[in-house]
Order: sequence, then structure tokens, then C-alpha cells
Amino acid sequence: MLRRKKKKSGGPSGGSAQVALPPVDFKPKADDKQQQQGILIACRGIEQYPAAVMMLAHALAGRADQILLDYSKQGVAVRYRVDGMWENMPPMDRPTGDGVLVVLKRLCNLEPTDRRSRQQGVLPVAFKGVDWIIHFVSQGIPTGERVLMRIEPKKPVLNTLGDLGMREKMQEQLKSLLNSDSALFLFSGAPGHGLPTTWRVGLEAADRFVRDFHSIQDVTSEDPEMINIAKHTFDSAAGESPMTVLKSLLLKQPDVLIFPEFVNADVVKLMCEEVLEEHRYTITRIVAGSAIEALLKLIATYKASAKELVKMTCGVINQRLVRRLCSDCRQPFQPSPQLLQKLGIPPGRVQTLYQPFIPPPPEQRVDANGKPIEIEICRKCDGRGYYGRAAIFEVLQLDDTIRNAILSNPSPAAVLPVARQQGFLTLQEEGVLSVATGLTSLQELQRVLAPPRPSQSKRS
Ligand SMILES: [Zn+2]
Repeated sequence: MLRRKKKKSGGPSGGSAQVALPPVDFKPKADDKQQQQGILIACRGIEQYPAAVMMLAHALAGRADQILLDYSKQGVAVRYRVDGMWENMPPMDRPTGDGVLVVLKRLCNLEPTDRRSRQQGVLPVAFKGVDWIIHFVSQGIPTGERVLMRIEPKKPVLNTLGDLGMREKMQEQLKSLLNSDSALFLFSGAPGHGLPTTWRVGLEAADRFVRDFHSIQDVTSEDPEMINIAKHTFDSAAGESPMTVLKSLLLKQPDVLIFPEFVNADVVKLMCEEVLEEHRYTITRIVAGSAIEALLKLIATYKASAKELVKMTCGVINQRLVRRLCSDCRQPFQPSPQLLQKLGIPPGRVQTLYQPFIPPPPEQRVDANGKPIEIEICRKCDGRGYYGRAAIFEVLQLDDTIRNAILSNPSPAAVLPVARQQGFLTLQEEGVLSVATGLTSLQELQRVLAPPRPSQSKRS
């Protein structure tokens, strides 16, 4: 139990007033400074305030981007998500966990006594010179209450295609596809694999200075504002659709129309006419496991416009996130010729591949007599073997051969061999390049390319 470790730092423990708290600077939303000060003073008066501070500092210092708290009769299970992987943390007892939750809800201007309704709030936080936004959601569940905190840097840290891990040649290919005339471009990705980030960075990489860009999105959409992209919103809750704003917008002869979602068949039909007859350019996105799957999903959803959609699509991008091998502790090994052959790497091209160094769990760090063995744990990655993530991408550039293949048999099994003949590199092949350069490991590539298990896909 964490409460026992009062004197030690580094865990979300309930320390006493003498222990200096880590520098987590809460900036709760309020009408003015005075009100904000009032919230902070009230929270500091709560016995478990130090435990709340310690937990957030621990999560931020450990690079967690999500914290999950599960309240049940027995206690509070604590989990962090680091580089896309959930890790169990020591649990909290109920009195500590309950107090922590009161602090967090007050800081988010929510109702601490309500343990059943879904409550949602935002909490700006500064920690060691970096500003973060914590998106807080709590919800009563049959066994107690569940709390999910999403932690995002206030300023995006990934701003260029290179930041995302895209190789240079592909960056050029993508930019040229995004800057071509009268076409449709499709962004896609598996759930939880960074599609919103690539969408933002990709749109910013398009030439928004020569052509005028307009995005048409629901008022509730979380997509951020972007420079040189005019935003037009509709309210789907009030029965509106992109059509509500599209007709008047088209009178202004826009060059590029961006739809986070097409929403309905009327919009697709109209956009097909606008692209094919009025030479406009349009961009949309779809959740799918591969570029081919994404395009097939789009035409299956809008069957009436399938032919037009295939005809006007110039390209589709898809991506997966892989964990980067920790550069401090990765272990080189000589791949066998059989392994290289299996990976499709020509003999002699790669002498060394890398695997993660993952130390055995503490209970196994003993010799034959049960005496503890000292194993140095990497300080950079904390023994995870990985540090940070990068995306691997595939870009399907359509030509008439691929278009004909799609129209004659819209199945991945039929389209893939044709696309490969035309030079298309799959996520698997692009991933092998990342393994060959030591960016990631073969195990990691296999993990992210394995088909998702239904129970996993939801929370990732
Ligand atoms: Zn390491």
C-alpha cells in the first residue's frame, strides 16, 4: 500500500506537510484570479491534496499520457498509459483515493459529491516549465466509479511530418499529392494510432498560401483551429449537416474543402461533382487498419458514388504507432540469414538489428541461493526498453491500374497485389525499414501489426 511509504518520494503517496511537494502548478479555470485562488486554497486544505499532487507529478515525470482510476469496494486501481501501453501502478486505499478525487473534481470545477453522473472537466497544469492540459472524465459504474484523465501538452510538440517519423521521400510524395488538382485525398489510421495528429500535421504541410482552404465540421468537433484554414461549423444535434453551410460556401469558389467526416451521401454526391466538374480538391479521413481498407470502406459506405470516389481519389495515407527502442539500452544482435530473408532484407545489407533490454521482474533477480542480484535498470526508459513513439506510414498513390482493380473487385486480397506491383509499400514493408535502421524492434512491429483483439481495441 502506498500510504505506508510516506517518507519516500516518487510515488503517489499521501505525504505529510513537512515533505516538500513536487512542483505541480494547478491553474483551475475561474472567472478571475481571486476565484482561482479560492479554489486552490480550498483544495490545499484537503488532507489528501499531497497524494493528488504526488500522483500527477509521478505520471507527468513518467511520461504518462493517460491515468485511469478504478474505484471499487476494495480500493482504487491506478493505471498509467505510457507510449500506448497500460501499466499497473500500486493501488490506493479508498480513503486516500476518495480524497484525491475530491481534490481533482474541485480543481476541474466539478461536483465532488456526485459519484454517479458522467462529469467532464479540464484542468490546466504547469510542471517543470511545461504547460499541460488534463482532460478529466468521471463516471459511476456498477462496481464504483471510473476516472480517466487524458494528459496533453498545451503546445503541440509534433509539428512536421519529420517529427512524426516520416521518411523524406514519403514527405515529398505526400506533399505533392496534397497539392495536386481536382482530387480527393484520404487520411486513415487504426484507432489509437495518432490519426488526429497526422491529420493536423498533414494539413499544415499542404500549401495553404496559394489556394484557399475551408474546413466543414461539426460544432462539437475537437479538431483544433489551423492557420489559413477557414472553419465552417454545423450543428448535427440541431439536425444540421455539412449541406447547411456547403451551398453558400461553394458560391465563393473555394479551392480546397476539408471534411473530418463527410457525414452523408448527399455531401459525397455533391463533392464528387465539385471535384470532377469544378476542379476542386477535397480531403477527408476515416478510421481503418490500412490504406486499401480505408478506401474500400469509404466506397462501401457511399455506394451510390463509389465509381466517382475511386476515379477522383489521388492518394490514401495510413499509419501505425510503434514504440522507439531506447537508444541508451537497446541490445544489438546479428540477424540470421533466415531472419533477414523472412524480413525481405537483401543479404549483406544489414549487419545488426536491435532488441529491447527488458530486465527480469524484481522477484526473479536472485541467484540459485535466492540472493538478490544487482541488475542495473536503464534510467532513461525505466527498464521499459522503449522510449517514445514514432509512426510508420504507408501511402497508396492511385493510378488507373489500381483504380480498375478496385472497381472490378473491391476486396483487399484482390487490390493489394496490384498495388504492390505498382510500387506500393505496405505498413509491414515500411515497418521493416524502421527495424533495419534500429528505430524499433521486430517484436514491437509484430505487436502493432497483429490484428486487434476485440477487447483491446476500445481503450487503445
Ligand atoms: Zn533504456
